[in-house]
Amino acid sequence: MVITNKPINKLMFMLPLVVLSACTTNKYAATNKIYKEKTKAFANTIKAMPPLTQQIDSISPDQQTFVGSVNFGIRKPNFVIIHHTAQTSLDQTVKTFILARTEVSAHYVVSRDGKVVHMVNDYLRSQHAGLGKWGNDTDLNSSSIGIELDNNGNEPYSDAQIKSLLSLLGTLKRKYNIPTANFIGHADIAPKRKPDPNKFPWKVLAEKGYGLWYDAVLNMPPETFDAVVALRIIGYDTSNLGAAVTAFKRHFLPMETTPEITPALKLVLFNLYPKYM
Ligand SMILES: [Zn+2]
Repeated sequence: MVITNKPINKLMFMLPLVVLSACTTNKYAATNKIYKEKTKAFANTIKAMPPLTQQIDSISPDQQTFVGSVNFGIRKPNFVIIHHTAQTSLDQTVKTFILARTEVSAHYVVSRDGKVVHMVNDYLRSQHAGLGKWGNDTDLNSSSIGIELDNNGNEPYSDAQIKSLLSLLGTLKRKYNIPTANFIGHADIAPKRKPDPNKFPWKVLAEKGYGLWYDAVLNMPPETFDAVVALRIIGYDTSNLGAAVTAFKRHFLPMETTPEITPALKLVLFNLYPKYM
């Protein structure tokens, strides 16, 4: 009796779990299937020997050969780019990121209550940055992890959301050895197009080691100080100077909103830019 009872008890225990798991996965089964197919295609590309479509132009095929090395790894992200979703709920954002026609996604979405949805493997290129530039990097989608915070752009970020974000940033920084300076915002890399994340507590993040901040005591810059060069050294695309200044202020000087170079901007910039060198 003891022997026959055991499997029945186990089955009774497992049944609700199976039902629960089926309910939670069904909603996204179709798009999860597409995710699986796409990742499988990438895996096949990586496995191909010799690598497909990697013929070098202007060198004849008989002059090109393949010998697999045994020493290699997988490319890793080196930046984290933070966004606000400009939407009003986590469900709405998740829905946007599983619709093919939107062509956008993020690696992670952090909801107002602190729940985190992981949507793209860290090693894959999610489509969150769009056209942008930081220093000489013009393909931030390839070099970064994109994190969307569920926020409409004009409301405070909840404590639970920031707490989860900090945990996520800690994990990413440790795992991929991401430099402190490389935690930036979407507006920083796309100042002409994007205002996010807006009203964001960058100073709180910098105090925890995610992004840089200026010192409490600031020295007056000399007359010769060039604010435009300093912005470029930090990474800003200054092709539209007003947009770059506005983005810098959104990040470091939220009390100022004008696109002009002001004494306060110069004061902060003069202290900050050497930290990026
Ligand atoms: Zn964004």
